[in-house]
Amino acid sequence: MSGPSLKTYLEKRNFSATPEPSDRDASVSDRPVFVIQEHDASTLHYDFRLEIDGVLASWAVPKGPSVDPREKRLAIRTEDHPLSYADFEGVIPEGQYGAGTVLVWDRGSYRNLMAEKDPPREMSRALAAGHIEVWLEGQKVRGGYALVRAEMKNADDETWLLIKMSDEGADARRNPVSTQPRSVLSGATLDEICKAGEHGDDDDG
Ligand code: MN
Repeated sequence: MSGPSLKTYLEKRNFSATPEPSDRDASVSDRPVFVIQEHDASTLHYDFRLEIDGVLASWAVPKGPSVDPREKRLAIRTEDHPLSYADFEGVIPEGQYGAGTVLVWDRGSYRNLMAEKDPPREMSRALAAGHIEVWLEGQKVRGGYALVRAEMKNADDETWLLIKMSDEGADARRNPVSTQPRSVLSGATLDEICKAGEHGDDDDG
C-alpha cells in the first residue's frame, strides 16, 4: 500500500446502510492515537490501528495482541480508516462490508520509538519500510510493540507480525484478550453491543 488514503475504505462501504463513520476527521490530537477493536465478523479478529498522517493505518490480527514477547501474532494489513473510526463501536448490518459487531477493546496514545533512534524515522517512513516500533499507552496493553512486515505479495496483500517488546509492559502470565473482554469505551461485552445494535434501529421499519 502506498501513502495514506481513504479511497478503499470509502469504496467498500454504503454509508446509508452502515453506522460506521464516512468522514475524514480533521481534528488531529497532539499525541497520536492507537485503537484495538474486537471485530466479530465472518471470523473473529482484532483490528489494530495506528494514527499515521491523519488516518488510521490498520491491521487485522486474528488472535489479538499478546503481552508475551515470545508470541508473534500474525497481522494482515487492511485499508486505512478515518481517525473518527477510533470511537466506533456497534453493529455493521448484514450484507454490509465487515458485517458483525465491533467493540473498542483498547485505546490510548502512542509514541513512535523509531523517532528516538539514530537516524530518526517518522511513522510514515517506518510504515513504508515495513518496520514500526511504538510505545502504547493503553488500558490493557502498555509498552513497546514492534510491527514487522514479513511478506508482500502485492500492494494490497501485506503480512506483518505484531510482537511485544521486552519491557515493563511485558508479562507472560497475562492474557488480556481472554481475561479482559469488555469495551474500554462503554464497559459492554460483545454480546451486549450486539443485542443493543439489533434493537436500536426500530425506526427503520
Ligand atoms: Mn475488521
